[in-house]
Amino acid sequence: MKALNFAEKLARPNILELAPYSSAREEFTGNQGMFLDANESPYNKPWNRYPDPLQQELRTRVGELKEVEKDRIILGNGSDETIDMLVRTFCRPGIDKILSISPSYGMYRVCADINGVDFEPVLLNSDFSLPVEDILARGGTHAKLLFLCSPNNPTGNRFAGEDIRTLLENFPGLVVLDEAYADYSRDASWVQALDDFPNLVVLQTLSKAWGLAAIRLGMAFAASEVIRLLMKVKPPYNVNALTQKKALQAMGESQQMKENVADIILRRDALMEQLSGIPGVRKAFPSEANFFLLQVDDPTSLYRHLLQMGVVVRDRSREPLCEGCLRISVGTAAQDEYLVQAIRGFFSGPGGTTGYPGPAWDYLEEPGRNGLCERKTTETHVRVAVNLDGSAKSAVRTGLGFLDHMLEQIPRHSGCDLLVNVKGDLHVDEHHTIEDTAIAMGEAFHQALGNKAGIERYGFALPMDDCAALVLLDFGGRPELVWKAKFRRENVGDLPTEMFAHFFKSFAVGARCNLYVKAKGQNEHHKIEAIFKALARAIRMAVKREAGAGFLPSTKGVL
Ligand SMILES: *Cc1c(COP(=O)(O)O)cnc(C)c1O
Repeated sequence: MKALNFAEKLARPNILELAPYSSAREEFTGNQGMFLDANESPYNKPWNRYPDPLQQELRTRVGELKEVEKDRIILGNGSDETIDMLVRTFCRPGIDKILSISPSYGMYRVCADINGVDFEPVLLNSDFSLPVEDILARGGTHAKLLFLCSPNNPTGNRFAGEDIRTLLENFPGLVVLDEAYADYSRDASWVQALDDFPNLVVLQTLSKAWGLAAIRLGMAFAASEVIRLLMKVKPPYNVNALTQKKALQAMGESQQMKENVADIILRRDALMEQLSGIPGVRKAFPSEANFFLLQVDDPTSLYRHLLQMGVVVRDRSREPLCEGCLRISVGTAAQDEYLVQAIRGFFSGPGGTTGYPGPAWDYLEEPGRNGLCERKTTETHVRVAVNLDGSAKSAVRTGLGFLDHMLEQIPRHSGCDLLVNVKGDLHVDEHHTIEDTAIAMGEAFHQALGNKAGIERYGFALPMDDCAALVLLDFGGRPELVWKAKFRRENVGDLPTEMFAHFFKSFAVGARCNLYVKAKGQNEHHKIEAIFKALARAIRMAVKREAGAGFLPSTKGVL
């Protein structure tokens, strides 16, 4: 009998004896044959055919990119599948055990539990470094796998090379190093160390830095002896044809990925710094990933507050060593900004900043004509986001209830998305808040309209109960207001009526538009509401694109 190699000695005996599933296709090497072997349909090419079970083309590409021989690569339906394949190949239920660290990625334990294999997490040192001695003390012949993750999820830190090396040299089983976040790290990948350590398995994925979580592609790199065993266990067609195709395409354009990674690293550091300055935030832990732990006072309330604002982060405060911690992924610049405001709003408490209210703000990254305006003066801090191609989503908080009520008419009746958040000096009076909100809204519309090619004059007349309002609007570049509406009362709600005309004037300045506003009627509330509705309707017409055309109707050319 042939002597077993090191990997075979570690493997489950039933896997050694396993006769893997084989398909007739593997015995035929050309690709021009007449395939009547797999009960496929002859129609609907090319999707009628099973994908290449060995993913030869993709593994060749991965090998070039990572500088690894193809027989040291196996691909999975996400890294999660490669984790599961490792457990099933090497660990006998009820006999063998898996070691890992704590806190770390949850799937290691889940895979162990599903397979009925003992799982022993070893607590990291308090500085999140590897407890090398503790891990080795738990070794023994039944310790088949050690799962490490570097940079580690959720702590964000990368482990010292020396510690990983000591474990590789002394751990009796395979050391699985999950490098899901290695693209964000300063350190080189351990893939290059495969020659030195036959018991090293490196996991990588397209789910994070590559931005391809949806296609599910994970990669494991290991000695060919290990890969050969995993290949026996893997489901034959585990990586589908669409995924193989998309992954090949993405790997041909890796420059974009690298640029995105560089941007995210910059934004991560900026975000951590901004958040660290907020009272109530205790610490942002250093990270070499695209996320970080934020330690705060009262993490669970902050978590709930963020959820209410449509921001989902991960509450890790009940994880070992993560007391008070939320895990936050870096988003787009607009999302990061929104998050900072939301956290600042939470900690400044009742009566302080309002923070951003409302539903999920995914639309900050949705396609469409977007405008984002932030204005900061000594008196106010205003942020406005609009999406002209939105779906009437709205969240408005100015601190003035009646102004909110009026502004909410705009998304509702124009179909645009509108986010308005204002922290104003309302303890002085309403003037600055109203004026600056209007200017910022105008600016946001101006920005969203882009070059405004082909803008026409639009108008809308609208009756409301006892009132009638007419608004004519021209985003033509010249700020102008003609105001023909009289109010007899001093206030409507918490708004002084003298500020109505001022609001429209300020909007006209910000949006560089002409406004002609005329209204008549008895009830003051109805009158001003009718004006806002008519404005919204006029906007709706003015920003509309020609049906079916991907461009603005252009009759006058660029304005
Ligand atoms: C996100 C993540 C993965 C990715 O798993 P996929 O199945 O490839 O999406 C793997 N490991 C860790 C530690 C992760 O955080």
